[in-house]
Amino acid sequence: MTALLQFDPIRLPPECETLRAEVRAFLAEEVAAGTFDPHQPGHGDAYNRGFSKQVGAKGWIGMTWPKRYGGHERSQLERYVVTEEFRAANAPAHLHFVADRQSGPILLKYAPEHIKHDILPRICRGELCFAIGMSEPGSGSDLFAAKTKATKADGGWTINGSKIWTTSAQIADYMLALFRTSPPTKENRRHGLTQFLVRMKTPGITVNPIRQMTGKAGFNEVVFNDAFVPDDHVLGEIDGAWKQATSELAYERSGPERFLETFYVLLELIRALGPEPELRGAEGLGRLVAQLHTLRRMSVSVAGMLQAGKEPVVEGSIVKDLGTIWEQKLPNRVRDLAAFLEPEILNRATLEDQLAFATTVAPKLTIQGGTTEILRGIIARGLGLR
Ligand SMILES: Cc1cc2nc3c(=O)[nH]c(=O)nc-3n(C[C@H](O)[C@H](O)[C@H](O)COP(=O)(O)OP(=O)(O)OC[C@H]3O[C@@H](n4cnc5c(N)ncnc54)[C@H](O)[C@@H]3O)c2cc1C
Repeated sequence: MTALLQFDPIRLPPECETLRAEVRAFLAEEVAAGTFDPHQPGHGDAYNRGFSKQVGAKGWIGMTWPKRYGGHERSQLERYVVTEEFRAANAPAHLHFVADRQSGPILLKYAPEHIKHDILPRICRGELCFAIGMSEPGSGSDLFAAKTKATKADGGWTINGSKIWTTSAQIADYMLALFRTSPPTKENRRHGLTQFLVRMKTPGITVNPIRQMTGKAGFNEVVFNDAFVPDDHVLGEIDGAWKQATSELAYERSGPERFLETFYVLLELIRALGPEPELRGAEGLGRLVAQLHTLRRMSVSVAGMLQAGKEPVVEGSIVKDLGTIWEQKLPNRVRDLAAFLEPEILNRATLEDQLAFATTVAPKLTIQGGTTEILRGIIARGLGLR
């Protein structure tokens, strides 16, 4: 059974450490210039068009894509370092992040050439925000039960129905969406879905914000009422999207963003404990850092396997499962350790603010991008257990 699992021991090469120094210097300059406050909880999920354009100008979006589409032909490991530093610094990279991580790679594989030349360079310049249109009321984990319909029309398709929990739809320029183009067949219940590129400004699309526990409205209901999508915006095979919808999972599920979403509370705890922490604080912190280090080694390993052209779907699912549970529990662990600190520690107010915010963020972490139960199903299948 263990032979089916493979976490290659990857070390980041020297060019990654050079790049890390450049990224840290850039982020420090941006903090000094007041672009963002690394202590402000939730900044990692903020949208900042100006900042995204600056990141694009640095060459840190579309890093692994071909130069002819505006990319930079760098490695997955270099991209890993940029993602890691941005998340750890709580930098406002949300505008370009989904396009960089998964929408761009899907377009690279399945979009017609003229669309690639139009859209990919704009993603690389940090100009475009993408949303993922998969979940619907009544079909989340079971993606292949999607009902929102695309009906063939003259020169394109007419869309009717709705998507839900669509992150960034309120600001996105485009959505990559799965729509039903045929009913499922008896032999294959996954048949009949097609992937589309949808311009969010298309008439007939309404975006209704959904407020979350944090008080923010980061995701939405998106309603399609006779919205028209042209033929050249079909991505890949008609009725065959199930073949392509699962192929990006290792990219989506294994990156450092999958265990660093509440990382700021750990940094604040380190500040609060100071250079000479008392025994209980030191032991608790040591335990958390050791767990984080292990998760990171596993996540870097998956990035290395992606770079080597492998498809570590099971390993990526394990990183997301362990990572999101860890980042979900982190706020409570930090709260426990902070309980023994003197009331007058200097960063008490910041720590309390961060803990309050991270506690309301935590429940979603094991749901977004595939729930814990679904991931465990994938892992069990990969290990031949079901
Ligand atoms: C913050 C956030 C952002 C999101 N952003 C997006 C987005 O941008 N685009 C998008 O399309 N979706 C998005 N989602 C939706 C997300 O993908 C779904 O919520 C998720 O897939 C679960 O689907 P569901 O909510 O319909 O729950 P359900 O699928 O109804 O699941 C309910 C419960 O049943 C369990 N369950 C379901 N099926 C099985 C099974 N076969 N075996 C065992 N247990 C099972 C689940 O684990 C869960 O605990 C987002 C969700 C969150 C929380």
